[in-house]
Amino acid sequence: MKGLTSDYQLTLPAMLRRAEALYGPKEIVTRRPDKSFHRYTYADFVRRAKKLAVALGELGLEKSDRVATLAWNNHQHLEAYFGVPCAGLVLHTINPRLSADDLAYIIDHAGDRVLLIDETMVKLLASFRDRVDLDHIYVLSADGSAPEGLESYEELLSGADEERFEYPDFAEDDAAAMCYTSGTTGRPKGALYSHRAICLHSMASAMTDMLGIAERDVVMPIVPMFHVNAWGLPFTSTLVGAKQVLPGPHLDPESLLENLANEKVTITAGVPTIFFGILNKLDENPGAYQLSSLRAMIIGGSAAPEGMIRAFAERHGLHVLHAWGMTETTPLGSVCHVSSQLDDAPEDERYRVRAKQGIPGAFIEVRARGDEGFAAWDGESMGELEVRGPWVSGAYFNTEEGTDKFTEDGWFRTGDIVTIDENGYVEIQDRTKDLIKSGGEWISSVALENSLMSHDAVAEAAVIAVPEEQWGERPLGVVVLKEGAETTEEDLISHLAAHHPKWSLPDAIEFVDEIPHTATGKALKMALRERYKDYTPAER
Ligand code: AMP
Repeated sequence: MKGLTSDYQLTLPAMLRRAEALYGPKEIVTRRPDKSFHRYTYADFVRRAKKLAVALGELGLEKSDRVATLAWNNHQHLEAYFGVPCAGLVLHTINPRLSADDLAYIIDHAGDRVLLIDETMVKLLASFRDRVDLDHIYVLSADGSAPEGLESYEELLSGADEERFEYPDFAEDDAAAMCYTSGTTGRPKGALYSHRAICLHSMASAMTDMLGIAERDVVMPIVPMFHVNAWGLPFTSTLVGAKQVLPGPHLDPESLLENLANEKVTITAGVPTIFFGILNKLDENPGAYQLSSLRAMIIGGSAAPEGMIRAFAERHGLHVLHAWGMTETTPLGSVCHVSSQLDDAPEDERYRVRAKQGIPGAFIEVRARGDEGFAAWDGESMGELEVRGPWVSGAYFNTEEGTDKFTEDGWFRTGDIVTIDENGYVEIQDRTKDLIKSGGEWISSVALENSLMSHDAVAEAAVIAVPEEQWGERPLGVVVLKEGAETTEEDLISHLAAHHPKWSLPDAIEFVDEIPHTATGKALKMALRERYKDYTPAER
């Protein structure tokens, strides 16, 4: 017997309709390229999202055709987040930090018909335009202008009548949005999100034990809207009617801190690199910014080191919320709150737990597959993390590549090597390809990196495997020092020796000016491994 609940489909038009009915006066603030502020209300945003849907509907596109964006976090991008899916089309957010080859490949592979491009990114077009087949390119600009040969987004909107918009009834499993993986191995692959996945992800993200976002919040996603839907924050914030602050192209610590203070932001989110910058700025000028409204800084994308979580709390009274996710998980998978079971744990233990990747969100299930079956939840046995749930990908878009990432019983193989403890906290030890195997024992590069980054002189650290005759592989530390800071290899290795077994310590530390990063801000270890593949400490 089936239940008799009505057949209500979870779709983005339903989310937009809610925003229109309930949150009209709430504010959305954007930092423009010239650093001035654009302010408007949810009512303005809904009206313009509808205009966009109407205008796109008049271009002769077919249902589920892809509309790409190359843009910073701004109000026009937010309009596309809703206007495109509400027109029955698929929003394809593209990362401008990718190479021209990858950009051309992704646009072609996704079959994008229209591109909405930020005025600050137009120069990128030259590198791939003749390799892709787009019907229209609209420029998102502050003053509505567009360079010659391109069309204006503002003109597109001004020619559209929002009264012609009718809330459509889509099936909730229709495609709404897509993102490509950053492709550190092989070609980038497309994750295609359904309306239902985004709606459920937004509801779950808003839960107190996940990100805990409510109408009273002021949310500033620093994580770009071109990177896995800015962790879903534009959708979640719109669902609950939170004020939104969009930092535009200004991701320097000073601009971000100004926004946090002036707009009384309560929740912000970004990768560790951004927060290292913010921490340094705060350390230089303690008390210069009034941040008493800020109740959570969500850090993810790479591990938030314990040292950083402590430093924010102890030196600035600021709370880090560590979160884990992936392009294939829409993206939020787990969030790290200290649960009531740990109420009596000593402070050090609580900090240690907070540096873990956390407990899976509602309806996300986790397991770790080891060499001999699934790893026990004992906080020690390691295995590759597999996840399943209503917003976890079941396949990649239009390719046979990567089918081995999906198990026969419906789980996604993440490529992250983890332990899971008795309370369900997942802790990433490494990526499968980044683990170091020395004399038959696994060494976690992440654990060593976190310890290196807790040293006062270290700005950033990566630990990679270098081939070595006797042991197969040995760890090498690659370190960027903070400006003006000094230390030695011996000092760093003895710092590590306090927390790690002797056999797992790096044989050497290389000091560099910069560690290369992927388009999504992660240390590009592949490039480091290539650079140091013939390395032996004796050569120094
Ligand atoms: P992406 O699909 O580009 O978002 O990358 C997903 C990958 O980033 C995951 O599989 C992890 O390896 C890594 N990642 C994301 N969040 C964290 C985190 N909090 N700690 C460590 N690694 C993370």
